[in-house]
Amino acid sequence: MAQLVLKNVFKSYDNNGKHKQNTPYAVNDLSFRCEDGEFVGILGPSGCGKSTTLRMIAGLEKITAGDILIGDVRINDLLPKDRNIGLAFEDYALYPPLTVFDNLAFNLRARKVPEAAIKEAIQRIAPLLKVDDLLHMKPQALSGGQKQRVNIARAIVRKPGLLLLDEPLSHLDGKMRQQLRFEIKRMHHEIKCTTIIVTHDQLEAMSLADRIAIMDMGVLQQIGTPLSVYDDPANVFVAGFIGEPPMNLLPAIIQKTAGGYCFTFQNSTLRIPVPTRYDEVLHNDMRVTLGVRPVDVVIDPDSELSTAIPVAVFENLGDERRVGVRVGENLLSLTTTDAIYYERGDIVKLRFQSEKTHLFDATTGVRIRSRHITVPRF
Ligand code: ADP
Repeated sequence: MAQLVLKNVFKSYDNNGKHKQNTPYAVNDLSFRCEDGEFVGILGPSGCGKSTTLRMIAGLEKITAGDILIGDVRINDLLPKDRNIGLAFEDYALYPPLTVFDNLAFNLRARKVPEAAIKEAIQRIAPLLKVDDLLHMKPQALSGGQKQRVNIARAIVRKPGLLLLDEPLSHLDGKMRQQLRFEIKRMHHEIKCTTIIVTHDQLEAMSLADRIAIMDMGVLQQIGTPLSVYDDPANVFVAGFIGEPPMNLLPAIIQKTAGGYCFTFQNSTLRIPVPTRYDEVLHNDMRVTLGVRPVDVVIDPDSELSTAIPVAVFENLGDERRVGVRVGENLLSLTTTDAIYYERGDIVKLRFQSEKTHLFDATTGVRIRSRHITVPRF
């Protein structure tokens, strides 16, 4: 068991580890804490610095500046083998001539663990990842999903203080991904090992992790529970990255009307009321980005909003339908489970769950918050 702390960690790949001015850091001033037994997901698009972060924690990559601690021990200069870490990468790299049992036993034998203790450890871990029936088989006879289970079992059989998973599901097809996700979650409940998973797949991070750290261009954008990053995104990047379909992000101009402040849009007559709690931080003609999730926009013939809008896009996805309407130059998407089918050009009236709209600074993308304390949903 271990607590992991990253303090102001930087990584530059240039100039023999020293930073060359005016080049971006692969990881830029990253600080976060992973509590003992916690499951943290590092999430972000390709190239945002996820794997570099994991590799620095594992000791496979030198840190340019900052500190990494496991418990109270600063591990910056410890060799990977001395960090008590279990690693499972996306390519499973099992030893082909060895059986699954011998693959699982390999590291323990190298550390001279007695055979009886090895057998006991494998018998304890193998059922957790459903590899107990595969122990006599060689890797070439296994499916991708089975190989990945063995890979993860190998990482945890030695009881690491910290388990690091780098995109462990990315080679697998949809159904297998889902199955292995359940297994990883169950395994974590059983062994309660402090775990970090790196993934570009938000569904994976949302379903597995207690908290998610979202990165972009080497910089941590937000860290929080899946619900908090979904409900309370810190900026437009997080707002657009978390959620499927993604949040609508529309350039808007704030206008004061008789009924209070409204979002208005260029080349559109649509007016959406802004929750009154924002009144103190708004002014007329202020440019903002409106964020609203597709589930928080409703087609409602009785809507009090005067605007009727033609349907531009309609997709029937079976259990839900997606409707797109044009707001000026932009497309606004909404999802509905109503069994109503629309044609392009049909006129609809919209209602907005106004309390669920978000405001972002039009220039910086940072969330504009009301000065009133709101009770979050999570
Ligand atoms: P991610 O895992 O989020 O896809 P990486 O951590 O692999 O991102 O990469 C972060 C940045 O560092 C990227 O710009 C990538 O090109 C760069 N990078 C990664 N590894 C190296 C390397 N060995 N040498 C130089 N640049 C690298």
